[in-house]
Amino acid sequence: MLPFLPFAAAAMPFILGMGLLFAEETDGVRYRFEEGSGQIEAQAAGPFRLRFTVTPSSGAARTLRVELPESGPKAWPVADVRVVDAEGGAVAVRRSGIEWAKLLIPLAPELSGIVIEAVEPAGGLPARTTDRDRRIEDGPDGAGVRIATWPGGKEAALSFRFDDSDPSHLDKVDPILREFGFRGTFMVNPGPDEPGSRRRSAFQARLEDWKALAERRDHELANHTARHRGAENDEEMEAEIRLAADIIREVAPHQGRLMALNLGGGTMWTTTRTLRHYLQANDHFEISGSLGMDDVYGARVEAFRKHLESHLGRGLWARVHYHAIGEGKGASEANFRAVLGIAAAHRDRIWNAGMAEIHRYQTARDGARLVPITSGPGELAFRLETTTDPALYDRPLELEARLPAAWGTVRIENGGGEEIPHTLVPVDGRQLVRFELPPVGDACRILAHP
Ligand SMILES: [Zn+2]
Repeated sequence: MLPFLPFAAAAMPFILGMGLLFAEETDGVRYRFEEGSGQIEAQAAGPFRLRFTVTPSSGAARTLRVELPESGPKAWPVADVRVVDAEGGAVAVRRSGIEWAKLLIPLAPELSGIVIEAVEPAGGLPARTTDRDRRIEDGPDGAGVRIATWPGGKEAALSFRFDDSDPSHLDKVDPILREFGFRGTFMVNPGPDEPGSRRRSAFQARLEDWKALAERRDHELANHTARHRGAENDEEMEAEIRLAADIIREVAPHQGRLMALNLGGGTMWTTTRTLRHYLQANDHFEISGSLGMDDVYGARVEAFRKHLESHLGRGLWARVHYHAIGEGKGASEANFRAVLGIAAAHRDRIWNAGMAEIHRYQTARDGARLVPITSGPGELAFRLETTTDPALYDRPLELEARLPAAWGTVRIENGGGEEIPHTLVPVDGRQLVRFELPPVGDACRILAHP
């Protein structure tokens, strides 16, 4: 269920003209006419549901601009938002590829009202568990186990993203990442050249090199849409996303089904559907919030250091993104190397992986719980329950057990009695045991003195 928002106070009608700042706000939602003018009234009509009433116009074009809050207590689930008219008919909305919370809504002259609303995702989203659900503290002899925040006992996750399939990604970024032992996510526009167009696809021009990069299986390819040009309607939007996904899955067939999607800066998309529709239809996910690393933003190396430190402190996933790298490009090679040097200095504390792998771990973890099973002395038994679809969220979760030193060597087995390999780290007179379990709802037993 979506959280419930308090209703706004009684709505007041206002005359709004174009060119004004956001004169009006209802429940944190700001709106004004981008084009044309008229009398408009907004009224909260339920949780994440806002009804706008407008006076019919003489026929001049009118476009309403609406900005939904993305953070804070009034934040909207932006990926689930659609617009309908008074009869419930779908209304096409225009948005920037990287600002989905900002809606441009063309109003037909005869239109007297619209409703902006968040709809429940089809099939719902994975339920979230709490930290408490993810650990067992008082097992036999004081033994305990928890799902690790990140694999390998790392304190934070870190992903490096590279947009637009620039040739420098193949010629410079890939070898430099390899030199430092890091993995990247290449957000590509793999759409083929179009007949009659002089625009050449940078990805298709180097197709064999992209295939070679994918075959080494350390980096990930992700969806930046087929041609980085937006779409004018639902069918075009689906085609731009689907075509890119199909080509990437052909070039990198070993990658898991889930793929990161970013619609691209400077693109505009007109659709009647929610962003969630496209994500679900294509097994994609969208993660907003990433530190832009182009030199034009200034002092990027220092910005990265701060970004990484704040994410380490909070156990979160730090995300950064680049465009082309090299002389005269988005970021200089020297600055790129300096950033990788900082990350390398924290290597023992950070988990670096592709965005889809981190997303798979994080989502399965956040929907998992450990349920104790009755166990006697010298045995800790539990079940790892998950709310995620094991076909998509198939990356194993890492578990950390703290066991009494008296347990000595242990055997860990799954519900079928098969042994699960583990590593053992002595800590403060007890022992820390790490092992991986697939998020499929299986039981697990840790046995002392096997
Ligand atoms: Zn881009």
